Amino acid sequence: MFDNKDQSRTSLSELGEFGLINHLTKDFAVKQSSTVKSIGDDAAVIDTKGKQLVISTDLLIEGVHFDLSFMPLKHLGYKSVMVNLSDIYAMNAEATQITVSIAVSNRFPLEALEELYAGIELACAIYNVDLVGGDTTSSTKGLLISVTALGLADADQITGRDGAKDGDLLVVSGDLGASYMGLQILEREKQVHKVNPNSQPDLEPYSYLIERQLKPEARRDIIDLLKKIEIKPTSMIDISDGLSSEIIHLCKNSKTGVRLYEDKIPLDPQMINVCEEFKIDSTTVALSGGEDYELLFTIAQTDYEKIKGNPNFTVIGHITPEGDGMNLITRANTSIPIVARGWNALSNETED
Ligand SMILES: [Mg+2]
Repeated sequence: MFDNKDQSRTSLSELGEFGLINHLTKDFAVKQSSTVKSIGDDAAVIDTKGKQLVISTDLLIEGVHFDLSFMPLKHLGYKSVMVNLSDIYAMNAEATQITVSIAVSNRFPLEALEELYAGIELACAIYNVDLVGGDTTSSTKGLLISVTALGLADADQITGRDGAKDGDLLVVSGDLGASYMGLQILEREKQVHKVNPNSQPDLEPYSYLIERQLKPEARRDIIDLLKKIEIKPTSMIDISDGLSSEIIHLCKNSKTGVRLYEDKIPLDPQMINVCEEFKIDSTTVALSGGEDYELLFTIAQTDYEKIKGNPNFTVIGHITPEGDGMNLITRANTSIPIVARGWNALSNETED
């Protein structure tokens, strides 16, 4: 993973901006019938077919959001798309198109950008979305990637953060905290590698955690599954900043309280082991770690039978009146207020 592959280098200046865009996007085929005009005109044209258009955008900056010393460029391309698609699915919409804009310094050869776009192309192929535009510009330092995702949904299917009702069940897909612990492993190995460049880390015991960090998947399957079992969540959000911060968003927007049960929070055994190794509390990681890209949503109690026993879903709590506050019920059965700490909660620079 830390090998510096000896690749050939083609300077970006040899191609020019339009040559570069053309070169990087020439193999992207149009898949969505809503894509009327893609790359190659002044603007893309989308036929919304009477549906509502959902738009989300993210900016990722080298050194702030990603570290290229352990993040392969292909993975970075893939993950940049996932981060955005996750927001579209969190609206209960189908992701249909993306635009990708990058700023690069001349330390990146063409071959590096080809790797980045290979990851973007793979994500587009798997998630059935079209790349329909973007921009390429130079940066004096480092790499910046901005992805905008577009999605379509029938007006009555769109699920916001504001529809949770007293008595609704709080449900989460997948498991939490693994991505954060994957990052801790990668950062630890980076430090080891600095001291001993010949070290060959055995990362096998951490494979799930590292995959969750380097190659997360947006939960389109959950959106499809909810449709199939005929559940429309009353509210929904994706977990990018940690469970506690997302719960607070749902409750504040819905004007409700919540009771979250610590013993119900789904954790992978590998994640629990590594928390022990790092002497860090697994509940804290699940609450504040972030980058899980799972979906957190609320459903009416009458829908419980439809998800009961389904391994994709875990009921972790229930919605209460706003006046009851937002509370975590610990394993010791004590109630403590949920606070938003976000993804840097575990560093020394806590925000609150
Ligand atoms: Mg989000």
